[in-house]
Amino acid sequence: MQENGKERRQMKEDKDDDFFSEEDDELFGEHLLRFLVKKYPNPDRIGCPDTGIIRDIAFRRKVTPENLGKVTSHILKCSECIWDALAYVEEYRKTKKESEE
Ligand SMILES: [Zn+2]
Repeated sequence: MQENGKERRQMKEDKDDDFFSEEDDELFGEHLLRFLVKKYPNPDRIGCPDTGIIRDIAFRRKVTPENLGKVTSHILKCSECIWDALAYVEEYRKTKKESEE
């Protein structure tokens, strides 16, 4: 516990006054996902939901709360679905950016 606090302070000192920038935020997310991807390999895709639902969530489309809960809790324990979700989020970001420009 003490080690953790030390590390956090160290990180803060290295960062100047800047709070988490958008890039940092994304980097952090990527590191976290890489960790998850390594941790939960599921090559046989056991218990995976329909990829269409993952896509709907990534695209911020309406899904039933039941599906949302089921899929998000599954994704956090399934590397394959994390990759799918990442690809869809990337796709969503691109389409969103294009419509904004
Ligand atoms: Zn899965």
